[in-house]
Amino acid sequence: MSTTIPAHKHCRICGRSMPANREYCSNECRDKAGKGEKKAKRMSRIWLLVLVVLMFFFIFSSVFLRPT
Ligand SMILES: [Zn+2]
Repeated sequence: MSTTIPAHKHCRICGRSMPANREYCSNECRDKAGKGEKKAKRMSRIWLLVLVVLMFFFIFSSVFLRPT
């Protein structure tokens, strides 16, 4: 018993199988992917800002709260 599976990929968003020449199974998934990427980019920028603020906080606290 042998079955030949046609060349296919799985949708990155929902995991459904689809033709290999496509990136996403539907426009809906393509939209979701675009939004997710944009959101992730914004989130990483926010985290960078938080990190910088924390760094300043630690530097200032180590300067002003130096043990005597
Ligand atoms: Zn999909």
